[in-house]
Amino acid sequence: MIPRLAAAHPDASPAAAFLAHLAGMGLEGEIGRTAAERNVFATDNSIYQVEPAAVIFPRNANDLKRIAKALARPEFTDISVAPRGGGTGTNGQSLTSGIIVDCSRHMNRILEIDPVRRIARVEAGVVKDQLNKALAPHGLFFAPELSTSNRATIGGMISTDACGQGSCLYGKTSNHVLGLRVVLADGTDFLSRPVREEELRALQARRDRIGDIHRTLARIANDDRAEIERIFPKLNRFMTGYDLAHLWRDDGLFDLNAVLCGSEGTLAMIAEAELNLLPIPAHAALVNIRYDNFNAALEDARNLVTLGVASVETIDETLLRLAKGDIVWPHIAAFFPDDADGPANGINITEILADTPEEFAEKLSGVTAALQDRPFAGRKGFTVTQGKAEIEAVWTMRKRSVGLLGNVEGPVRPVPFVEDTAVPPENLAAYIREFRAALDQEGLTYGMFGHVDAGVLHVRPALDLTRPEHAALVRRVSDTVVALTRKYGGVLWGEHGKGMRSEYVPEFFGALYPRLQEIKAAFDPLGQLNPGKIVALAGRSLPKIDAVQLRGSLDRDIGNDIRAAFDNAAYCNGNGACFDFDADSLMCPSYKGTRDRRFSPKGRASLMREWLRRLAEKGVDARREVARRHPFGVVSRLWNSISPANREDFSHEVRAAMDNCLACKACAGQCPVKVSVPAFRSKFLALYYGRYLRPLKDPLVAAIESTLPLMARMRPFYNAVAGTQIGQAVMRRAGLTALPLLPPLSLRRKLAAQNVPVATPALLARLDAGARAKAVIFVPDAFTEHFDPQVLLDAVEVARLLGLAPLIAPPLVNGKALHVHGYLGAFEKVARRTAAAIDRMAEAGVPLVGIDPSMTLTFRSEYSGTGMKGRVLLPQEWLATILDRLPSGAVGERRRIHLMAHCTERTNAPAAVGQWKTIFDKLGIELVVDDVGCCGMAGTFGHEVRNRALSETLYAMSWKPALAAPDRVDLVMATGYSCRSQVKLMDGVKLPHPLQTILTALQARTLPLERDGTYDV
Ligand SMILES: Cc1cc2nc3c(=O)[nH]c(=O)nc-3n(C[C@H](O)[C@H](O)[C@H](O)COP(=O)(O)OP(=O)(O)OC[C@H]3O[C@@H](n4cnc5c(N)ncnc54)[C@H](O)[C@@H]3O)c2cc1C
Ligand code: SF4
Ligand code: SF4
Repeated sequence: MIPRLAAAHPDASPAAAFLAHLAGMGLEGEIGRTAAERNVFATDNSIYQVEPAAVIFPRNANDLKRIAKALARPEFTDISVAPRGGGTGTNGQSLTSGIIVDCSRHMNRILEIDPVRRIARVEAGVVKDQLNKALAPHGLFFAPELSTSNRATIGGMISTDACGQGSCLYGKTSNHVLGLRVVLADGTDFLSRPVREEELRALQARRDRIGDIHRTLARIANDDRAEIERIFPKLNRFMTGYDLAHLWRDDGLFDLNAVLCGSEGTLAMIAEAELNLLPIPAHAALVNIRYDNFNAALEDARNLVTLGVASVETIDETLLRLAKGDIVWPHIAAFFPDDADGPANGINITEILADTPEEFAEKLSGVTAALQDRPFAGRKGFTVTQGKAEIEAVWTMRKRSVGLLGNVEGPVRPVPFVEDTAVPPENLAAYIREFRAALDQEGLTYGMFGHVDAGVLHVRPALDLTRPEHAALVRRVSDTVVALTRKYGGVLWGEHGKGMRSEYVPEFFGALYPRLQEIKAAFDPLGQLNPGKIVALAGRSLPKIDAVQLRGSLDRDIGNDIRAAFDNAAYCNGNGACFDFDADSLMCPSYKGTRDRRFSPKGRASLMREWLRRLAEKGVDARREVARRHPFGVVSRLWNSISPANREDFSHEVRAAMDNCLACKACAGQCPVKVSVPAFRSKFLALYYGRYLRPLKDPLVAAIESTLPLMARMRPFYNAVAGTQIGQAVMRRAGLTALPLLPPLSLRRKLAAQNVPVATPALLARLDAGARAKAVIFVPDAFTEHFDPQVLLDAVEVARLLGLAPLIAPPLVNGKALHVHGYLGAFEKVARRTAAAIDRMAEAGVPLVGIDPSMTLTFRSEYSGTGMKGRVLLPQEWLATILDRLPSGAVGERRRIHLMAHCTERTNAPAAVGQWKTIFDKLGIELVVDDVGCCGMAGTFGHEVRNRALSETLYAMSWKPALAAPDRVDLVMATGYSCRSQVKLMDGVKLPHPLQTILTALQARTLPLERDGTYDV
C-alpha cells in the first residue's frame, strides 16, 4: 500500500501574511497555495524547477494594482512576484520562489478591435492565436509569429519580445506595440506610449516614479548614445531586455515601450496592450526544397533570401525523421516525398506572400524558375504548397519541431539552454559548423532547425540531466556558445529571452550593464519584480545558470526505471502544447473547460512526476506497487479514508487533478512527447484506491459492460430507474446522472432473425476460402449494442448491400471502463480473455470491424500488453479496403454532409478522417469534417454527477455552436456513441452514424445491388 505523503501546509509559507493582506484588500481573483498548484507552476519549458510560494490569478488591472500596492508596504519588502502568461518560457523566465502572478486564467479579454485604424486593445493574458482568430473576419492579423502561438500570451510575447518565422518581414513583437498599460511595483497605473520631446520633458518633471523612470532613461539614452551604438549588434533580432538602442525612434519619438518590451516582468506588470495590426496577405504559397545534407540547406538559404521570399525556415534530417512519425505527417507527406536516392536530409521552407494574383504569380514563378535554372549542390527537388489548410499543416509541423525532438525513448532528451542564438545570417553557416563541432566534441546528439533568414538557430542538445556529468555540460556548452556568438557578432538570446541565462547579460552589455541596473532601480527599487532575471540591483548578484535547481536533480530521486514505467509523465518537457486556447481544437478538454493548469496534461504529468518522486523518497517503487496488485481489505481502506491523520495527503491533490480528466486521449495522440494521461492515471488510481475507499459510482461504472446484458433483459426496470424522477434521484445519490434509456430492440434477436450468425470458432472453421473472402465480422461494443443497436443493424445491412456476408462477434467485454477507473487487475483479466477471443476470430482471416472509435481503439492502445495479434478495424478503415465495392456516385446528385468525428479517433488514428472523406467521395458525397473539440461526454465521464457541469460546459464551447451555426443546413453525422448521446441529451437531436448515411445512400441508388449475406448455419 502506498504511504501517506505529507503536503506542506500553505500557512507555513512566508507569503501567507502577504496573501492574507491581499485578500483583505478585496482581491477579485483567486489565490492558489496548495502543494499541487505550486508544483504545476514550478516549471516552464526550461531545464529548471523552482517552486513558487503561491500563485495569484488576477481578474483585472485593479487586481494587479492591489498586488503592487501590497508589495509596496514596508512589511512586505521581502516578497517578490513574477508575472506569468502561458508559461512557455524556455529558460525559466517566469519561474520564481516568490509569488507567480498568472495573467492567463482571467485577464484574457480582447477589449477592442478597430479594423479601420487597424488597432487592437487586449488584456495581457490573451493568447496570440486567440487574437488572430478574432481578427480573421476583419482580414487582419497580429504579425509577430512564434511556434507557441496557440498558448503564448500577448503579455509573455511582449515581455520576451517574441518573434519567429517571418521576422525579416514583420520584425519582433516590439515593432507592433503601440501602447502598454502597466502597473509599476508601487501600484502606479501608467499608460506608456511613444512621446514627443516636450511630452518627455513633462514626464521627466514629475516628482513620482514615472518621473524617476523617464529621467533615468532619457539620461542614459543621451549620455550613453555612443556606447549603445557600439554595443548593440545590428541584427534583425536586435538585443532586447533592455533595448536601449530603440529608446529614441527614427521618427523622433521617445519610446519607453522599447525597454518594457523584452523586460521579462522585471520592470512592471503589463495589464493591457494596444497593438498594431496588418492586413492578411491575400495570396500565399510555400516552396519546400529538399537537400541531401543539412549543410547544403544552410548554404542555399542565402540564395533563397535573395529571391524576395517572405521567410526561409530550415529543418535538419533528425527533425524530418521525427516529423514522419507525427500526427500531422499524413496531411503534409505529399509535400516532402522521398527521392529515388532516398529521403531528404534537410529542408528549406520558403514562404511567398502577395496581395494581388499578378504579384503572387510573378513571385512564385520567379522562385520556382530560379530553383530550376540555378542548381545548387545538394539540392534534390522541391514542391509547392498552396491552400490555407495545406500551408497551415506545413507550419504546424514546423511549429511542433521542438516538441518532436522530445519524442524519443530513454532518459537522454533534448533540452533548451543554448536553443535560440542569433548571428548575422551571412555568418550562420560558418557559425553552425563550429557549433556542431563543439557539440560533436562533447559526443552530444541534437536536432537543428531555425529561421535561417534571420540567422536564428534552434538547437537542443540531448542530455540526461539526472546524470551529474551531463548536468555539468550545461555550463561547458553554454560558455562555448556564448564565446561563439560573440565571435560571430551575434547574441545568445535570439528570441526566447534570458531567464536563468541572465548571468551572461553583463558580458553582452559590457559598460552598459550599470545603466541596466539604474533602470531596474528606477522602476523597481526594492527588486521585487521577477528578481534574478536580466539584471540585479547594484550590490546584488544574478544567479548562475548551474546554481538553480534542475528538474533533473529531482528526477534523479525517481530513477529512470520508474520514469520509464509511467507513460512519459516524467518526460513532459513543459512546452505547453496542451494549453491550446481554441475550443475547437482537441487538446485538452478538461483544461479548456476549467482554465486550471492542474487539469491539463502538463499539470497532471507534473503532479504524477512529483508524486512518484515523493514515493521514491519514501523508498516506494511505484512501478512494483502497480504490478503487485492490492489485496488490502475494505477495513484498512475504510480506516485510511476516515482517519483524520490522512486528511492531508498529497495523493488527494493528485487524485483531484486526475478526477476530471475525460480520458479522451487527445494528449496521448497529440502531445509531442506522447504524455498519455489516461495510461498513467489508471496506474495512479489503482494505487490510490489500494489505500482509500472508492466512491460508490466507481464499481457501478466499472461493471457497466458486464451488467448491461442483464439490464437489457430487465429493460422496463432499468428504464424505470433511468427515466423517472425518483430513479434519477437515486442514481444521482450513487453519483450517476443523465443515463440513457434502453430501446425496445434487441440486436442479437434481430440479427438472429435476419440469419446473421455469431462468429463462433466452429462456424469460422467451416467457411471455405470463397466464403471468407466475402465475410466480415462486426465486433460490437456494449454501449452501441444495447443503447444504439440500430447502428449495428445498419452496418450489417451496408455489408450485405456491398455483397458481403456479415457475422456478429460473440458478446465481448472490452474493459475500457475498468481501465479508465484504474481497476487494472480486472482489466488485465478481461483484456486477456477478449484478446484471445479476437485472435481466434482473426485467425480465420476475416476482417473484424468495431463501430465505436474509442472502444475500438482501446484494442490498439490499452490492449498492447496482451500481445493480441488480431486487428479490429474502424468502419472507415474497413470500407477503405473494399472501396471498389462502393458504387460511384451512389446518391446521384452531389450532396454535402458534415462529420463530427470522435476526438479519440481524430487524435489517435490520424488517417481515419481522411478515409471517411475518400469513402464519401466515392459515393459522390462531399464530406466536410468539422473542426470541433470534445463533446464533453467521453464515455461514462458525462454520466457522472461530479463531471456533468464540466461536460455541459464543454458541449457549449464547441459542439453546440457548431450544430447551431446559421448556415448549418446539411446533414451532420457523428462517429462516437457518446457524442451522439450527448447531442441527443443536450439538444434533442439524433445524429446518424456515417454507416447509416452510407446505408441510405446505397438504398437510394437506382441500380439494383447484389445483396448477399446468407449463411448455412
Ligand atoms: C516549443 C516552444 C517553441 C517556442 N518558439 C518560440 C518562437 O518561435 N519564438 C519566440 O519568440 N519564442 C518561442 N518560444 C518561447 C516562448 O513561447 C515565448 O517566449 C513566449 O513569448 C512566452 O509567452 P508566455 O505567455 O508563455 O510567457 P511566459 O513564459 O509565461 O513568460 C515569459 C516572460 O514574460 C513575463 N510576463 C508574462 N506575462 C507578463 C505580464 N503580463 N506582465 C509582465 N511580464 C509578463 C514573465 O515574467 C516571463 O519573464 C518557444 C517556446 C517553446 C516551449
Ligand atoms: S503534456 Fe505534452 S504537450 Fe503538455 S506540456 Fe507536457 S510535453 Fe508539452
Ligand atoms: S485524456 Fe483528454 S482530458 Fe485527460 S488529460 Fe488527456 S487531453 Fe486532457
